[in-house]
This record gives sequence, C-alpha cells and structure tokens, in this order.
Amino acid sequence: MVHFVGAGPGAVDLITIRGQKLIAEADVIIYAGSLVNPKLLDYAKEGAQIYDSAKLTLEEVIAIMKEAEEQGFDVVRLHTGDPSIYGAIREQMDELDKLGIAYDVTPGVSSFCGAAAALEIEYTLPGITQSVIISRMEGRTKVPEKESVENLASIGATMVFFLSAGDIKGLKEKLLNAGRDPKTLCAVVYKATWDDEKKFICTLDDLPDMASEHGINKTALIIVGDALSQAGYEKSRLYAADFDTEFRKAKENP
Ligand code: SAH
Repeated sequence: MVHFVGAGPGAVDLITIRGQKLIAEADVIIYAGSLVNPKLLDYAKEGAQIYDSAKLTLEEVIAIMKEAEEQGFDVVRLHTGDPSIYGAIREQMDELDKLGIAYDVTPGVSSFCGAAAALEIEYTLPGITQSVIISRMEGRTKVPEKESVENLASIGATMVFFLSAGDIKGLKEKLLNAGRDPKTLCAVVYKATWDDEKKFICTLDDLPDMASEHGINKTALIIVGDALSQAGYEKSRLYAADFDTEFRKAKENP
C-alpha cells in the first residue's frame, strides 16, 4: 500500500499525527527532498529505505513503489505542504491504478496556511474579500489563458502565488498591467514555519527590490491583496451579539 502524506510547510511538528504515524510504520519512504524538512525522517523506523524524489523521474518513483508492493512493504510518499496543491499526485495515483496498487492520502498543512500564520493574517476579511485565489506564474507548466495573472487580479480577492518567486519582477508587471495600484499591499514569506523563515510586507511597487534585498528567489509565497492591511474590515456576523446561530441565541440588549 502507498500512503501519500502531506509533510506540512516545514516545521517538523506541523505534520499531522496520522502522517507522523505512517512515517514511523513505513518500510519505504520517498520524500520530496527539495522542500520537505529532512528532520521528518527522524520519525522513520530503523532500517526503513529512504529515497529523495528530487533526484527521480515519475517512472523511477513508480518502480520503487512497485518493488515495495511486491515485497509486501508499506510505502510513504511524502509531499511538501498538502499533496493536493502542486503535488503531482494525480499522475502517480493513475500509474498505481494501472498496477492495481492501493493507496490513500493524508492531508497536510499547506504552505499558504503556514504563511498566513507567519504573518498573523486572515485571508478572508468580511467587507474586503471572501476569497483566496491560489495560483502561479506560468513556468514550464502552462497556466490556462483564462487564469492569467491579469484575469485573476481583476477579481480583487486575496491572491497567493506559489512557484513564482523566481520572477517577482514579471509578477509585478502583470499585476500593474491588470490595473492594480502600485500601492497594493503584497507579502513575501520565505520558508514559512522553518527556522530560517523570512517575511515582509511591502507595496507592489517595492516588491521586486524588497525580495532581492532579502535574497529571496525561491521557496517563497507571494501574497497580494487589500486583506494584507488587516484593517477596514467588518466584524463577522457569526460572533455578533445580535445574531442568532444554530448554537447560540441572539442577546436582547447586545
Ligand atoms: N504542496 C505544497 C506546494 C508545492 S509547490 C503546499 O501545499 O505548500 C512548491 C512551492 O510551494 C514553492 O515553490 C513555494 O512557492 C511554495 N512553498 C512550499 N513550502 C513553502 C514554505 N514553507 N514557505 C513558503 N513557500 C513554500
């Protein structure tokens, strides 16, 4: 059996209890060495076979899984953050389906949640935006035309850009082309929740210079949107004293 496990954003204690347990029981662990904290491998049992997928092709990963299955071994495939976000798990699951190998998925804390925690922000502030858009700049992987930065930026939601720290200047250009104000607030979080985490908030105008000043060009998220001010929002109705909910009666004289 193959267990796809979300490793969380970096800090070793941000993996789920289930994920930690699966690592401890695994005979074979294939981890995404470029982004998964190697300290998570300390949870592995003595003698577990460990492979870094950064050095492997899809075919090689599947071959390791197939051989493990033939020997009756349990495999953990450890992905950074949550495996459903840019995790390339579908292609692995499809190959496992072809081979008749069973698998399951254990979610993880995505880095976009780690970044919000690092910044102590709420992405979805009432009165400002109720949506978070997760996207990326186009790289070797194409982004559908309808999802261009320009189109997404016109919505006004909080945007979180993965896999884009290598071209922050290009991102700024696209956001300006989309009509975003140069004063729009942006944040960069590098290695959220790791010991060497770095973070800052600045205007769109200053974004590329600030990133290069901090030496950031990879392993970072770029967050864009008015919610970053964390001001000018409306309080939630859920906790409003004059509001009835399924669990609480409204107070008569709030
Ligand atoms: N599945 C992962 C994302 C994998 S794509 C998740 O849920 O977080 C890899 C990209 O994720 C990196 O290029 C970077 O943009 C982002 N990333 C992953 N871990 C990060 C971290 N700790 N801090 C900031 N960005 C991170």
